[in-house]
Amino acid sequence: MRLVVKYGGPSISSVKDIQTIAKNIRLLSKKNEVTVVCSAVHGITDDLLEISDLIRNEDKSKAEQVVSKVINKHKQLATKTIKKPNLQKKLLSKLDQDFSELLALIDGIVLLGEVTSRSMDYLSSFGERLSMKLISAAINDIGKKSVPLTGKEVGIVTDSVFGESKPLMDTTRLRVLKTIETLFSKNIVPVVGGFTGADQHGHITTFGRGGSDYSATIIGSCIKADEIWLMSNVDGLMTADPKIVKNAKVLKEVSFVEAIEMALFGAKQIHPRTFEPLLSQKIPMKIRNSFNMDNQGTLVTISPSSSFKNTVKCVSNVQHNGLIDIRGGSMIGTPGTAAKIFATLANSGINVMMISQNPSESSITIVVKNSDLDKAVNVLEMDLLGKIIKKLEVTTDVAIIALIGSGMRGTVGVASKVFGTIEKKGINVSMITQGSSELNLAFVVKNSDTNKAVKALHDTFQLAKIN
Ligand code: ASP
Ligand code: MG
Repeated sequence: MRLVVKYGGPSISSVKDIQTIAKNIRLLSKKNEVTVVCSAVHGITDDLLEISDLIRNEDKSKAEQVVSKVINKHKQLATKTIKKPNLQKKLLSKLDQDFSELLALIDGIVLLGEVTSRSMDYLSSFGERLSMKLISAAINDIGKKSVPLTGKEVGIVTDSVFGESKPLMDTTRLRVLKTIETLFSKNIVPVVGGFTGADQHGHITTFGRGGSDYSATIIGSCIKADEIWLMSNVDGLMTADPKIVKNAKVLKEVSFVEAIEMALFGAKQIHPRTFEPLLSQKIPMKIRNSFNMDNQGTLVTISPSSSFKNTVKCVSNVQHNGLIDIRGGSMIGTPGTAAKIFATLANSGINVMMISQNPSESSITIVVKNSDLDKAVNVLEMDLLGKIIKKLEVTTDVAIIALIGSGMRGTVGVASKVFGTIEKKGINVSMITQGSSELNLAFVVKNSDTNKAVKALHDTFQLAKIN
């Protein structure tokens, strides 16, 4: 099989992790053509972003402290992971070149006194640039040939939207296919640093946080992989957050559309555009645990086999959000009200997670992250209060509970089962949404009611018995 195996940051945090990855890849590549895609070492992207914040706040000395932490962490991992002295020496000298470039970049940004989105991408790309070298060296160290490649080196060409770029697939396909097939023909395992590519001018771009998932599917689609595996520290997509529901189960099979819904909510967060490159080619994906290879994880396909078509497949939750109820008599029958509200929020970079409007049109209710709440209320008041909006009512600390499963479509009685269960628990519901795809039924409760609601619904739909 032709496989793309992607390791997330939490699977790359210790010497043992890296050695485990190397061993698993050596084993897999005996019978398969394997391309590895990796995230940065756990926590490193956060460190790099913190450095840019510190520079912005002119705290150069703290920024230097964080950089040394990043550098030392990689040096330590390199010396402890790689046993063969010549390989270790070679790795350390390659890492040293990256460290020098990183330090020069930081000096440059400090000198300029501003952090542009382009320099942010350049800076945050270092996490993967370093981790791919560690992993590739670890594979070499146990006797399997491997080379590390950045997104740019493997051939991922993107637009120039820094921080949120998209691949230019036609060019990318040609280049990636050529690079990887050349390596395959020499029996070499490519280890590609995820998250990044380069635009047509050669400037480094990133796909946004969590973007290594997307790198994996882009590459998988270019080389027509048979399967893409996203390796993380959980066994797969689950029927509920196992921290809340003790008997939550790993889902054996879900469809792409269900996985997209689950990815936004569940314990395993997946970059939202990850599935795009797979849809047209129908490449199946598996979500598996890096440290538990005996478990097959969750298979994501276009159409799961019929034994896995339960009505509801999972009850997920997103906690710590704010709800804003926007009211005003002049909203009624006035075209463009919603457009104004959402444009105002969008201009301030606020992401709206949930929206509902009742047919009387006298109010629109939205949910945003708690961390965006102040800003959202502020811009709405500044720009629209007294004009189209008469009143804003805010509720802090609410949770979104979502039931996901494509079997809900056209099934009578799901909503009554859901709200009957919630009523029995004496929980108040302050907002409800369901798209006409009927794939996701979501509602809002007080944060403190989350666990009670999730457990009760997990029981009602007998999700512990799902497989
Ligand atoms: N390292 C990047 C991040 O932390 C990309 C990824 O891990 O997927 O967001
Ligand atoms: Mg991730």
